[in-house]
Formats: sequence, C-alpha cells, structure tokens
Amino acid sequence: MGGRSYYCDYCCCFIKNDVNVRKTHNSGLIHKMTKLRYMRRFEDPKKVLEEESKKEPCTRFLNGKYCKFDLMCNSTHFNEQQLKQLRKIVEAQERTQSLKTTTTARDDNSVKLPWQRFHNKNNIKKFKIKRLPESLKPINFNRMRNDCPNVEWG
Ligand SMILES: [Zn+2]
Ligand SMILES: [Zn+2]
Repeated sequence: MGGRSYYCDYCCCFIKNDVNVRKTHNSGLIHKMTKLRYMRRFEDPKKVLEEESKKEPCTRFLNGKYCKFDLMCNSTHFNEQQLKQLRKIVEAQERTQSLKTTTTARDDNSVKLPWQRFHNKNNIKKFKIKRLPESLKPINFNRMRNDCPNVEWG
C-alpha cells in the first residue's frame, strides 16, 4: 500500500498523501513560513518597505542568530543594505510612475495651436500693410506751391 506522495509547491518537498499528514504539514511552522515568504514576493515593495522600516531591527536575526519567528517576527529581518535595496526598487518604481504622469501632463500643455500662430502672423502682416494715415505722407512741396501761386511774400 504505497499511497502517492503529495508535493507541496511552497516547501518544494514531497509529503505522504494522507489527510492527517497534509493537515499537520500545512499547519506546520515551516510550511507557513515558506508560504508567507512565497506570498511576499508578490507584495508591493512599497508596502513592504513601509512595514519593515517601521519595525525595530531584529538584533538576534541580524547578528546571524536563528530567529524562530522568521517573517512573523515583530522586528524587521531586513538589514540596512536590504532596506536600501528595497528603497531603490520603490524609488525606481515611483520614478517610472511619475515619469508617466509628467509625460501626459506635458502632452496636455503642449497642445499645438499652429492655426492660432498663423492667424496671429496674418494679423501682424495686415497691420503692416495697412495704409498710412494722410498726415504721415511725405509732404509734396510742388503741390503746395501750386496750391497757392498768388501768395505774396511780405
Ligand atoms: Zn509546505
Ligand atoms: Zn526576528
């Protein structure tokens, strides 16, 4: 009677395919830890950073000692370097996000109005070729003399 083995994806190990054995395994600390670690990979790095940077460092774990609480520890198991790395990931993520928003904002502002510019240019041109008022015309001396031929000069 050799029952098939049950493979646990989280722990990457075969266990006896027996309800009781599986139950024991699934409620076991090792399985819970590996599952938690597995799930954490899909968590938002920003959330992890926020949570971890709030915690006090676990001196036991960070000094290379075994901490039985592992990821369930109330203190962070991230050392300074890991937190820095995590922060970099978050910053890079935020940069790409803000880059996206600024690009769209810039696109909105740079709505080209070529017709408007053209229109303005035309207006200026129109103003320039507008006829000068009479008073600004160069004085025609010849005409002036002809206009008053009989004037006697003192
Ligand atoms: Zn497992
Ligand atoms: Zn700890």
